[in-house]
Amino acid sequence: MVGEERLMSDFFGAVERGEIVAHYQPQVDLATNRIVAAEALARWNHPEFGIIAPGVFIPIAEDTALIHTLGRFMIEQVFRAVAGWQKNGLDLEVSVNVSANQLTTLEFFDLLDRDLARLDMRPHSVTIEITESYPILDTPSIATRLDDLRRRGLGISIDDYGVGYSSLQQLERMPATELKIDQSLVQDDSVQSLALMTAVVELAHWRGLRVVAEGVETEEQLALVRELDCDRAQGYLLGRPMPKAELEGLLA
Ligand code: C2E
Ligand code: CA
Ligand code: CA
Repeated sequence: MVGEERLMSDFFGAVERGEIVAHYQPQVDLATNRIVAAEALARWNHPEFGIIAPGVFIPIAEDTALIHTLGRFMIEQVFRAVAGWQKNGLDLEVSVNVSANQLTTLEFFDLLDRDLARLDMRPHSVTIEITESYPILDTPSIATRLDDLRRRGLGISIDDYGVGYSSLQQLERMPATELKIDQSLVQDDSVQSLALMTAVVELAHWRGLRVVAEGVETEEQLALVRELDCDRAQGYLLGRPMPKAELEGLLA
């Protein structure tokens, strides 16, 4: 077992050494059955231990300023990928995870602005996914800046809905364009979970949000989220997170 201290010290400089890569997991439009979007997920290619999942290094990064370095890197990767695809006539949307910590810095919003201007791309193709670990909209500056991003055309997704800090208030107040139903709900076939998902989809649609079902692993789950009127589905059944070139191959 690798110690956390070892990993933490190795993680310093991992971005600069080129050890972090973005993988992309397809999202399928349930009306057309086509891949219309992908979620970028960070992977750490450790020189000694191989691929390390974000569940291991994101918590380390969150405790330090490294979350900002990683966040900046992922945004740049995603913007560059989308701009390249648009140039080649491929209209694929991409989502990128943004930690609540990143939203507290002005630098993050400056970076988005700069990349949007520099890359000459359609901003609606990028969605930032936010998992609230605390009520971020209680910080007025964050609320204002999220509204700003929305006005510039970027998508905002409420990630992991149905667990943790999820609330109706969040659904009402967040200037979101999308809601992602957490995989724990999608994979739970209890009556309660079904009732909750039905209500969440209805509320989200009423608010004008697109609904993405996460963690779809079986044909039964796919049929269910389709029946529940979810707009998009993502999960191992439809495609694992994969390197950018692999996704491009799949779409070609
Ligand atoms: P998430 O944002 O909820 O991402 C979805 C996670 O579910 C991914 O795990 C994905 O590989 C996994 N997944 C997708 N489909 C299935 C399925 O059908 N079954 C199961 N069991 N799992 C599925 P991953 O890549 O290990 O990422 C874990 C978490 O790490 C992410 O959860 C996200 O919160 C965080 N993360 C990943 N990349 C970044 C990043 O660039 N920045 C930040 N701040 N967080 C990131
Ligand atoms: Ca996510
Ligand atoms: Ca999620």
